[in-house]
Amino acid sequence: MASKNIFVLDPYHKDAIALLQSTPGLDLVLPDDPRRSQWRAEADGIIVRSETHITAADFEAASRLKVVVKQGVGVDNIDLQAAKSAGVAVHNTPALNSEAVAELSLALALSLSRRVTDIDRRIRKGERVIRSQALGLSLFHKTVGIIGMGNIGREAAKKWAGACQSTIIGYDPVAPQDVWQDIPHRRVKDLKDLIRESDVVTLHVPLLPSTRGMIGATELELMKDNAILINTARGGLVDEKALLGALKQRRIWGAVLDAMETEPPTLDAYSELLELDNVILTPHIGASTIENQSNSGIAVVKILLSVLAN
Ligand code: NAD
Repeated sequence: MASKNIFVLDPYHKDAIALLQSTPGLDLVLPDDPRRSQWRAEADGIIVRSETHITAADFEAASRLKVVVKQGVGVDNIDLQAAKSAGVAVHNTPALNSEAVAELSLALALSLSRRVTDIDRRIRKGERVIRSQALGLSLFHKTVGIIGMGNIGREAAKKWAGACQSTIIGYDPVAPQDVWQDIPHRRVKDLKDLIRESDVVTLHVPLLPSTRGMIGATELELMKDNAILINTARGGLVDEKALLGALKQRRIWGAVLDAMETEPPTLDAYSELLELDNVILTPHIGASTIENQSNSGIAVVKILLSVLAN
């Protein structure tokens, strides 16, 4: 391959960088290199995460650019239409994050059900927490309602069934009929039925006009008293004002949120929510495991190299 200019615009795992560095014929510019800002004029290929936004103006200016590869699923930070018009290939790594995100959704729900973060906080404040005041909720043998039967939803179903022997019910009017043949589950046609029946409601859909606000005041009202809501998908799927009201009134056991309208979540944006002990927030860390960052980073580099080789 003739020498190619590769710009890594966002931080990547060291294994991905090592693979790039060991590949002959690449002139590599890393995120902290002052030459980073020259990517529009010089790059043959770029790799990004969610931080860098690639606009129509960028594609217009980037005359040498052949390929953009992004780690992860969502490509909402890249103007796909402009990429197409400019003849630039855009790739992502859709299924690779699934294990990690599904794992986090269970970890958060189990932490909330057993009050782990709340009790830990109280101990750190010097409080003597006695067991009778630390009663949790068991998630063993409960019904888990999965909204969105894609890559992450399927992984979550397997983990719930395996770890907690959960009964799985799923709602996904868009997925093909055979999508979950390998997972024992019951398909529910009406979202409201899923919400009424579930002890855990877990969101694994993209943010679309059809999914925005799909969990609002009406849906929260339908949830079981001790139900847990998990959103590791996207902010905007849940009406945050309605959720705050439901949590304050203790309508449900609680909610765990790795995806918020404002990310990363701050005290300024979520002061009222953060006063509550029945919610756990994390700043979109679903994919953030050492293993996933290494595997996904290497996959990104391999895609980039294969596109540039053709
Ligand atoms: P996917 O495309 O594999 O699956 C999405 C599923 O949602 C599909 O089966 C689709 O049929 C279904 N769907 C679409 N519209 C629907 C609707 N109106 N009702 C019900 N189902 C509907 O995507 P995925 O990889 O499983 O990702 C799921 C979500 O997780 C996305 O929002 C993604 O952005 C998010 N995500 C979050 C993190 C994180 O760090 N927290 C990481 C990766 C992905």
